[in-house]
Amino acid sequence: MNFLVKEKHLKIVEKVKEFAEQEVKPVIVKFDEEEKFPVDIIRKLGELKVFGMHVPEEYGGMGTDTLSYIMTVEELAKVDSSVAACLTAHNSLGIGPILEFGSEQQKKERLPALCTGENLWAFGLTEKNAGSDALGVETRAKPDGDQYVLNGSKIFITNGYSELTRGLTVLAQTGLYNGKKELSTLLVDKETPGFTGKTMHGKLLWRAVNNAELNFDNCRVPEENLLGKRGQGSKVMLKTLDSGRLSVAAMGLGLAEGAYAMARDYAKKRQQFGKPISHFQVISFKLADMAMKIELAKNTLYNACWLKDQGKEFSKQAAMAKLYSSEIAGEIANEAMQIFGGYGFLKENHIERFFRDQKLLQVGEGTSEILRLVISRKIMKENEKPYES
Ligand SMILES: Cc1cc2nc3c(=O)[nH]c(=O)nc-3n(C[C@H](O)[C@H](O)[C@H](O)COP(=O)(O)OP(=O)(O)OC[C@H]3O[C@@H](n4cnc5c(N)ncnc54)[C@H](O)[C@@H]3O)c2cc1C
Repeated sequence: MNFLVKEKHLKIVEKVKEFAEQEVKPVIVKFDEEEKFPVDIIRKLGELKVFGMHVPEEYGGMGTDTLSYIMTVEELAKVDSSVAACLTAHNSLGIGPILEFGSEQQKKERLPALCTGENLWAFGLTEKNAGSDALGVETRAKPDGDQYVLNGSKIFITNGYSELTRGLTVLAQTGLYNGKKELSTLLVDKETPGFTGKTMHGKLLWRAVNNAELNFDNCRVPEENLLGKRGQGSKVMLKTLDSGRLSVAAMGLGLAEGAYAMARDYAKKRQQFGKPISHFQVISFKLADMAMKIELAKNTLYNACWLKDQGKEFSKQAAMAKLYSSEIAGEIANEAMQIFGGYGFLKENHIERFFRDQKLLQVGEGTSEILRLVISRKIMKENEKPYES
């Protein structure tokens, strides 16, 4: 394993760190409170070229490795989950499948615009009756000549209907194959007649993220917008989720690091009984446990990224990284709140936002229960072999 990233890529990570501190931190409480999508922040973030940063230069990206991208997400999540979520949903769920399964023409036509931060692309899997049971999707794309006629709906879609959204990849039934549902993925542009959407409001968390309910009413989608081959929908979805889990893990790690740093600094400053509360062993031991969990999460995640960059199988490690990072993010945010005492409940201290935002990480892109299922299935297949990491 070698977790070194190229000097030029590290510079991007540093710039994003600065951006998060200077451009996001001072204003994000207001966006969270008002449940508003921060269009201008996203546009400005786009100027750092991090949207599509892992896309090869020939398609408009910077061609970074996975680890540099993951470290970028980590830096944003140290400060705010909503801005980080917009980036990860676009890069991993939006661009990811186009890059992996798109035809040369689709990549050339679509990716350069998607690498600017001016145009967001989403991934639509979840429906009212199909959450963890992703294969239960009821949205249909009926072949009709050289088009598909799309009918159905999606829910919770990140970046699904913002001012910057240009469309999404839709997982839909395209027919039956050997008596089983045939699933395929289609690139659906926002301006397609019959495509409507509405931003969801009243969320506990990720309040500055655009999550949308989308409807497709006889949308005519050209056959050339099929992503991958017809019937490859499950494959596209599973591959997309494997990579997506690395970004969710990075969000968990970053959030945990941000919460830990806030709690550590507060514990050193806050005086009770004539000394800083960090001098009480029970508090310093909480911080020690947090630091250890962060270290473990970081190693698990970076290892999964390294495997991906080496072209090795990384699906089990991605699931483990996502599960572990998201769960420690919850534990650390909870302990950090405890260290802040009553002051943690005030919005100006940011920690209460971290305490809310972490919960999504145990639900999105595979709940903790489903991830345990994924990991258990994988390890059962390993049978008699010694443990492989
Ligand atoms: C803020 C936000 C952003 C999102 N962004 C997107 C997006 O961009 N694109 C997209 O397609 N979706 C998105 N989602 C949807 C998300 O992926 C789903 O919410 C998630 O997959 C869980 O599905 P569900 O909410 O229907 O829960 P359910 O599947 O109904 O699960 C409810 C509970 O039952 C448990 N459960 C279900 N099945 C099993 C089982 N077999 N064994 C054990 N336990 C089980 C679950 O673990 C969970 O605890 C988003 C959701 C949110 C809240």
